[in-house]
Amino acid sequence: MYPNRAKSLAGVLGVLPWLGCIAAPEVVWRNYEQTLLVTYETPEQAQRAALEALPLPPGKRVAFSTRWDDSVPSGVEKAEVLAEHGYKGTFYLNKVDAGGYADGSIMRRLLDLGSSVGAHTCTHPYLTKIDANAMFREILLNRIEIESRGKVCVNSFTLPYMAYESETDSNMPAKIGECLVRAGLHGGDEVWPDVASRFKRSPNEWIGGFTFDINDTNPKLSEFETNIGRGLKAVETGEFECGPHLSLGIHNWQPDMQKFGAVIATRANNRDWWYCNANEYVAYRLEALNTLFVKKSVTDCEATFTVCRLLPFETGARLPLGIRASAGVVTAIADGHTLEAFGGGVFTLPHDAAHQLPIHIGAVFNKANLEAEAALEADPTLPGFAISLHADLAGNRLVCVLENKSETAIEGPMALTFRLPLKWKNGIFRQDIAPLAAGEQRRIEVPMGDVDNNHILDVGVFFFAVQCDFVTAEGTSRLYATAEAAPLQPNAVAAQIDQP
Ligand SMILES: [Zn+2]
Repeated sequence: MYPNRAKSLAGVLGVLPWLGCIAAPEVVWRNYEQTLLVTYETPEQAQRAALEALPLPPGKRVAFSTRWDDSVPSGVEKAEVLAEHGYKGTFYLNKVDAGGYADGSIMRRLLDLGSSVGAHTCTHPYLTKIDANAMFREILLNRIEIESRGKVCVNSFTLPYMAYESETDSNMPAKIGECLVRAGLHGGDEVWPDVASRFKRSPNEWIGGFTFDINDTNPKLSEFETNIGRGLKAVETGEFECGPHLSLGIHNWQPDMQKFGAVIATRANNRDWWYCNANEYVAYRLEALNTLFVKKSVTDCEATFTVCRLLPFETGARLPLGIRASAGVVTAIADGHTLEAFGGGVFTLPHDAAHQLPIHIGAVFNKANLEAEAALEADPTLPGFAISLHADLAGNRLVCVLENKSETAIEGPMALTFRLPLKWKNGIFRQDIAPLAAGEQRRIEVPMGDVDNNHILDVGVFFFAVQCDFVTAEGTSRLYATAEAAPLQPNAVAAQIDQP
C-alpha cells in the first residue's frame, strides 16, 4: 500500500554517480554540496583516491544511548545522573502542554545536560486502535508541540505500549511507518533492532536500536551485563539492521537513582564507546548512509571531491560526519577549512556554517480551517513573521499564506515542507520559494494530488501541516502552520463503512 518512495540518496545516485547532486524524483530529503580537496603523498595515490563515510564517529565501535518514555517529572534527575557518569538520554515526551514542559524549561534543562527529546504521541493512545487520521495527528502534532516549546529539532520517536500490529489489519505496521515518515521523524530505539523492516521502511531512512531494560524499578547489574554482552556480540558480527546501536531503557521509575547510577558507572568511560542520545545516532547514521562522494578531478597530488549530503534541518544533524580517505592522504580541506585528522586517513567533516539547525521554532494552529488570509498569525517566538495553512478540500489543495511583517528581508530561499494524512497518496510536498521582502505577503497553493479511495481513510478529521525553514536576521528559524478539516461527506462515508 505504501511503496518505499524514500529511496536513499546513495541508493539512487550510487548507480548514477555522474548525476552529482541532481536529485532524482525518489529522493526525499533536500541536500547540498561541499567541495573537499584531499592532498596525497604521491600523484598515484591521488589517482586512486576514494572516500567513505564511517558508520560511527572516529575511534568508536558502538553507539550507546539511553531511552526514557513519557513526560514524567523525574526526567531531569535521571538526566543529571546520566551526565554524571558520561551518558546521555533521549526523553520521549507525550504530554507537553503543562508545567515545565509547556514553557520549554524542562526540555532546555534536559538538552543542557546533553540529552535529547523525542516524540511519543500527544495523548499516548494505542496507535493500532485509533483511526488513521487520529494516528497521524497524534504523531505529527506531538512533534510540532515538542519542537516549538523546546526550540529543538525532533527526529526520533517511540511507540506507546510498543503497539504497532493489529489482528484485524495486516497493513497496520505500514500505516504507522508511513505516518511517522510523513511527520518528519527518522527513527528511535524500539526494542527491535529491525524496527525499520517491521514498519515496512528502508533501514536507510528509519534508524533503530537494540533496546533493553535492566528492571525499571529495581535496576540490576546482572541484567545490564547480560544485555550489553548480547548487544556487543551482535554488533561484532554486524547482525543488527539498525547498525551498532545499544540503548538502555525504558521507564523512569527507579526510586533509587543512586543505585541506577552505580550500575551504569560500571561501563562508563569506555574509549571506544560513543555515549550519545538517539537524536545524534539517528542523524549520524542517516548521514553516513545517505552521503555521496563524487571524485571530480585529480591534479598532481590533489584529488577534488564533491560531497553531496543532506541539509541538517531535514535530519536534525548537529555533529560532523566521520570519513576515511584511501591510503597516503596528507590533508583534507573543505571550503577553505582544514579538517580535523584522527590518523589512518580519518577526518571529520562538519556542516557548512550556512547550514545550521533552527534555533527559533514556532507554530500556529488553524483548528477551524479558516481561509488562509483570515488565519494568518505570528508565533511570539518570531513576531515579525506570520503564517497560516488552510485545507481547501473541494479544490483538493493546500493554501499557505506567509507574511514578512519585519523591516528586513528574509535571507536565502524558504523551504516549505507540506505534510499530509494518509488519504493523499503523496504524503510530503517540498517547495522552495524565493525569500520574502520586508512587508511582503505571499500566497502559495499546492495541489494535493491523487487520493486513496479507501473510505476508512475518511474517518475522523484530517490533519495537515506546513513546515517552513528559513533564515532571518535573528538566525535560522522554523515555523509550522497546521489546519484541521473534517472530510467533505463524513456521513456518507460512515454509512458506506457500516454496510455489511
Ligand atoms: Zn509511554
